[in-house]
Parts: sequence; structure tokens; C-alpha cells
Amino acid sequence: MKEVKSPKKPLIYYYGIALLVILVFNMVITPMLTKSQINEVDYGTFMKMIEDKQIGRVEVSSNEIVFTDKDNTKIYATGAMNDPTLTQRLYEAGAVFDRNVDSGNGLSPIVSVLLTSLVPMLIFILLGQYLSRKLMEQAGGKNSMAFGMGKSNAKVYVQSTQGIHFSDVAGEDEAKENLAEIVDYLHNPEKYTSVGASMPKGLLLVGPPGTGKTMLAKAVAGEAGVPFFSISGSEFVEMFVGMGASKVRDLFQQAKEKAPCIVFIDEIDAIGKKRDGQFGGNDEREQTLNQLLTEMDGFEGNNGVIILAATNRPESLDPALTRPGRFDRRVPVELPDLAGREAILKVHARKIKLAENVDFHTVARMASGASGAELANIINEAALRAVRSGRTVVEQADLEESIEVVIAGYQKKNAVLSDKERQMVACHEIGHALVAALQSHSAPVQKITIIPRTSGALGYTMQVDTGDKYLLTKEELENKIATLTGGRAAEEVVFGEITTGASNDIEQATKLARGMITRYGMSKDFDMVALETVTNQYLGGDASLACSADTQRKIDEKVVEIIRTQHAKAIDLLEKNRDKLDELAKYLCEKETITGEEFMAILEGKEKLQ
Ligand code: ADP
Ligand code: ZN
Repeated sequence: MKEVKSPKKPLIYYYGIALLVILVFNMVITPMLTKSQINEVDYGTFMKMIEDKQIGRVEVSSNEIVFTDKDNTKIYATGAMNDPTLTQRLYEAGAVFDRNVDSGNGLSPIVSVLLTSLVPMLIFILLGQYLSRKLMEQAGGKNSMAFGMGKSNAKVYVQSTQGIHFSDVAGEDEAKENLAEIVDYLHNPEKYTSVGASMPKGLLLVGPPGTGKTMLAKAVAGEAGVPFFSISGSEFVEMFVGMGASKVRDLFQQAKEKAPCIVFIDEIDAIGKKRDGQFGGNDEREQTLNQLLTEMDGFEGNNGVIILAATNRPESLDPALTRPGRFDRRVPVELPDLAGREAILKVHARKIKLAENVDFHTVARMASGASGAELANIINEAALRAVRSGRTVVEQADLEESIEVVIAGYQKKNAVLSDKERQMVACHEIGHALVAALQSHSAPVQKITIIPRTSGALGYTMQVDTGDKYLLTKEELENKIATLTGGRAAEEVVFGEITTGASNDIEQATKLARGMITRYGMSKDFDMVALETVTNQYLGGDASLACSADTQRKIDEKVVEIIRTQHAKAIDLLEKNRDKLDELAKYLCEKETITGEEFMAILEGKEKLQ
């Protein structure tokens, strides 16, 4: 929706023209001034002119003789000959010996230098300035540098936000409440100014990607009916130093003219990173950031320009940016909870035709951990799937399948597994499901499948909690680890062999076990000491160790211990229920996909028989 004014021609285009002018000048005009007026004559003519005393100035070099006639009007040239008496005869004929006959031509050497080099240079500079001024006019800006550099793109940052309202953003009630105040202020500033209150200049929307930060910012503008200026932090960082700062200036100039309005800076961490003065730091970024700070200080709290910025790396922002008076309010935009997910699904489902049987509560439960953007994607995938299978309405199965697509990738139709491999995959998945089901406090199994996916998964077991879980006990964590090791354990119990299929399980189990020790204080040896700090809360939650090398070694030992214990527990559980494991694996191998109910029916049926 971004509008951009008539695209300018690239700078290189104008430099090209200037270069061409110089070339033409040198190739055509300079020779015209000099060489073109030299008349080639034979040596006889030269000798004759000496005899007639018709030589004006003369220059004799080893292979050429250049001379003029008596009145210095014409320049002649002839080849040099072995002529020992030439100098004597020239002297007697009254010729003037000169070192620069050909460039003489009435022009002093200075003039000729001027003509051949300085004039083109001048033309080049004038042309450059003329063109840069032209560009300025196109851009409508006022600040300039020679040659059109240092000028931001001729971009209009306003976007249309018509028709985007808070009601389009589902869930996120706390964020909306926070922003509603801004909307109210924009509607009715007197209400605030009369009390002497001033709005915060900047609000920072903080949260993981795809949770609707951009949408919320647009909705504020849409609700208030004010212009919405939008730019991404990365757009400021340009190749030429100074461009970013000039863009900031440009943006705020436009914004101030249109106040009241919303300025939205996406990915502000691209320019707002801590200035750490590291060697080889990014000057351009710092200049841009400084310009942004200056602009924010430059306008009064009440002039109606409100800056919203979004980031998913709040901890990396420069403190100067987050201090009061700048982005002093922080609005968390978190991943939606169960109710939020259901609401988001419903908002996006307005656009599609639904069958009677659709139950968004179940879908929302299955899509735990999904962001708003992913949920929107799930709805769209479901609609596409319905079309593909020639239906006019979206059914529950479409939605459930599209969750799997978003989680695990598309089904790989042509993957051919050998029988043995299929049996092993089935056994592996049943191992997970069985260990989960045999422990208390595990989320129920929703679905088990051994259809390979494009993500590389050969099968998976989907466990779905009945509600949101905010706290996990130590036992629940241990059970989770046991469940993760269940796949490998089943391979060992049934086939006495191990495969590469457990790599993802191993990774997850290790991460959990590590977290238990380093972050949740769940090991006796370290008590409640933080051994790791999370550096990237919203982007995968990377952690960095904060302990001595010796402690690190101990942590590693503890991690191995936890996993070994849980792995042994899983093997034990499976060995005790070997008959169920075999029966379920065989069933899954035939059916490829079984539901949680089928799974439980077989499991419990068997138990009743015993
Ligand atoms: P962010 O800026 O946080 O990365 P966006 O605002 O760009 O995320 O959201 C991307 C898309 O995800 C939106 O266009 C919208 O379709 C969907 N979306 C995200 N969160 C929500 C929400 N709370 N309600 C409705 N749709 C949402
Ligand atoms: Zn597995």
C-alpha cells in the first residue's frame, strides 16, 4: 500500500551523461584546436620554404619537424631527414627556434590546458549540481549535497489504514487497552491538555514476530482517523553514510506537516541497537539513531505526532531510546493464549465459508504456541485445501490438516519407505505416545501419524493440552523428557537397534533438561542459582551461560544424568507393556494415521482383558 512518487532515474545515469560529455570534448574538440590545423607537407616543400625565407617558428625533434609560415598563420609538419646543415640554413633563413610550435597556434599553453582539462571538469561539476537540484525538486526536499547524494528516496511514507480497527485485532486485550488511550487523545486532545497531561511521545510494541504489532499500530491510526506513516528500521540503514539520518529528518518533516498522525517504525532494533563503541561499529546506524533521538526531543509532547515502534529484541535497544521522554511506554504484545487463539481464528474465518462441524476451540487447542500470523496462515491453508479437494466449504479436517502443514510441512506423497523403515517409524511414534499415556500428568495424545512430511519428519505424535499451561512442575518436565526419549526407547526394546530418527527428540530433551538445571533451579547441587540468562526472549529464547568452566562441566554431567534416568524409565515402561507396544505399532503401520481415541481404545481394551 506504500505509494511512491515518480521513480527517479538512478544517479549512475547522470554520471554517465557527464562522462560522455568529457569524452566527446576530448575526442572532438581538443584535436580540432590543435592537430586538425597541422598541414602535412613533404620535405621538399620544407626545403623550398627555407630557401624562400618563409619559415616563422620551427621545432625540430628526432622524427618530426613542425613549423609555421612567416606570418604564423598556418602550422606545417614534415618527417625528419638526415640533414646536417639544416640548423644552419634555418638560422640563415631567419626562423625562430621554438619548443612548442604545434600547441602555440596563438594560444598560450595555459589557455590550452584550461581548454582541454579544466573546461570539461567545470562542465562536469555544473552538470552535476544542476542535476542534483533537479532531483531535489523531484524529491520535494530542501536539504541537499552536491551530486544528489545524501538525499533520501522520494518516498511518501503514508499508508492507508482505512477500515482497520481494533476489532480486527483479536486477543491482545491489554495492548488494545493501552493504545485506546492514544486514540482517545488523538480524538480529543483538549481533554488531556486542559489537565496539563501530555501523551507519551513514543510507545514501544514488544513481542515475538507475527503477533500483530503492525496491525495494532495501523488500527490506532484507523480508529483515530489520522495519517499513518510507516517505515522499517532496516530501511534507514543505507549504503551512503548520512542517508539514514536524512531519511529520519525527511520522515518527521512530513509527519509534522500532517499532525496529528502516527509514525510507525517497524524493527526499530535495526537502528536502535545499543551503541557499544565496539571497534568497527556502524557509524551510519549511530548517526541515524542520533538523528531519531534529536527529532524525538525536538517536538513537544502535545503536537500530535505519536511514534509507535515495534521490536522483538527489546533487550538490545539503546537505553537512550527507552528513557522517559522518548519511548517511555512499553506495550507487550505476547503470543495469544487459548482464548486469544480461538478469537484470532474466528476473526480470520470471517473471510471463508465454514462447514457446520468446525470447532475452533479444538483447533485453537491443537495450535498451541502459534502466533497470530501463523493462525491466519492456518485458516488460509485450510481454505486452499478445501478448494483443492473440490469442496465449497472448509471442514474441520481441513483445519486440522493445515495445522500439521504449518507445524510439520506438507505431506510427502512420493516418499517411499521400506517395510522395515515403516515398522520402525510406527514403533518409534507409538513409543512416544505410549510413554506419554502411561505416565500421569502428560498431555493426552491427539493424533499419531507416520506420513512423511516435507520438513523431514517421518512421522509424529501430537499431544494436546486441554487448557493453557502456565506452570510446569518438576515431575511434568521429567515426564516430558521421558516421553521424548520414548521413541528411541521403543526402537531399542523392539528391534534392539537405534536409528537417526530421534535427532529432534534428543535436541528437545536436552534443552528441557538443561533448562531445569540452569534456569529453573531444579537440581539440588545448584539450588536456586541462575546459571544461564535468556538473551533472546522473543526469538527462540537463546541462553548464554554465566558460570565458571568448572560449573559448566558439572551442568553437563547433571544434564546427562537427568536424561539417562528418564530414558531408563521409558525403556522400563515399554518393556512392561511390550504387547501393547507391538499391537499399536502394527495397527499404526496399517492405518498410517490414528486418532487419540483409537489409541486409547486399544490401550484400554487391552488393559481390560488382562
Ligand atoms: P508483527 O508486526 O507483530 O510481526 P503483524 O502485525 O505484521 O505482526 O501480523 C501479521 C499478520 O498476522 C497480520 O496481517 C494478521 O493477519 C495476523 N495477525 C497477527 N496477530 C493477529 C491478531 N491478534 N488478530 C488478528 N490477526 C492477527
Ligand atoms: Zn521421535
